[in-house]
Amino acid sequence: MSITASILYNLIECPHRIALDAFGDQAQRDAVSPFVRMLWERGNIYERELIAGLKVAPQTEFLDLSAFEGEELEKKTLEAMANKAPLIYQGKIMADDLVGRPDLLRWEAGGYVPGDVKSGRGESEGDDVEGGKPKDTYAVQLGLYIDILERLGLSAGRRGFIWDINGEEVVYRYEEPQGKRDPYTLWELYQETLDRARNILSRKEETQGALAAKCKLCHWHTVCKKELETQDDLIGFSLRIGENTTYCYSQNHPQSLPNMIFLDEQRCKYDWTKSEYDFGYPLEVSSSVYRLKDMLPFMLSLPFENPNVLEGRMAFYAKKFAPKYSFLGCFRRSVTFCNPVNVVQSVILNRAGEEIRHDIDDLAVRFERGERIRIESYDNFIPNACHQEVEFVFEMDSNS
Ligand code: SF4
Repeated sequence: MSITASILYNLIECPHRIALDAFGDQAQRDAVSPFVRMLWERGNIYERELIAGLKVAPQTEFLDLSAFEGEELEKKTLEAMANKAPLIYQGKIMADDLVGRPDLLRWEAGGYVPGDVKSGRGESEGDDVEGGKPKDTYAVQLGLYIDILERLGLSAGRRGFIWDINGEEVVYRYEEPQGKRDPYTLWELYQETLDRARNILSRKEETQGALAAKCKLCHWHTVCKKELETQDDLIGFSLRIGENTTYCYSQNHPQSLPNMIFLDEQRCKYDWTKSEYDFGYPLEVSSSVYRLKDMLPFMLSLPFENPNVLEGRMAFYAKKFAPKYSFLGCFRRSVTFCNPVNVVQSVILNRAGEEIRHDIDDLAVRFERGERIRIESYDNFIPNACHQEVEFVFEMDSNS
């Protein structure tokens, strides 16, 4: 199957979309939403106006191939490039399994540089340190054109350009790190995206649907929603895990985020059987919700003397659930955390109280005096782990 620039663009937006576009039941696609249609029309109008301006601009040698299609278009594009046409509009280039329709091909010192016209900004919003950055969606499209030009021996170098809505030309350079904090190059991004597209289209990689904000505009929205509703693959729902829990306190080790599948704006799920540290520890007794029908018989089958032993045994046997329930649900940002200020058992010496310590007697005395932990103090606190030592804030119980 050929790889096109729009396949790579869509893959950045959603890998499942390119799988459904290739193998899904096309009769089940939703109609294109009026909003998406409006965006297309806005893009077309902007491109038409810009190109009309180029045609009448003095000193612009401009070759418009938009009236041609198929093999004839490819032939005319190759002829134009052989003649070193300065600027080619809507040509077609192909090499191996790659097919490209760049808006522009510009002759520059020894070869061609591809460009696209976009009715959005040429770069994403930046921050104070690094400023704007190339957009991944645009970068993979231009990357494909550069790759084809290289294979044809017609490239002027690994760069491309976007003519954006502000009338600016934004140059995308493929060999340079993307920023001081980001050594990843656009060429690496392109190569990885291309490999992944090939894997998905040859069915070596399976994809999963989700429900994120952008899904509302996707023509597979109804299909993906149905898919998710009929899936029953969650072992439970963790309140203590999220994209913020990047550190495993109990093992004193950073932990990688798994591939999250978004069910909606707030909730996601991930494959715990392929995850590490806290993400690979789906059964625990502090802050998760499970189905009674699965968990009660399982827990009753385990001998235990205290909660630590119970959790240890649940964790040990968790893999028995893997074939049926290989996913764990969670919020995008965790909503609970444990504050390990002491240990209240002697069976398992859990890590606790290294920075902040409250022994049991101290807490018992405070409780007797009517002191309570002021929960509201942690309202905007975002923990970096399921367990994190933080100062307690006490207040007097108004009923004591
Ligand atoms: S609805 Fe969402 S998950 Fe499904 S294909 Fe579209 S973008 Fe991807």
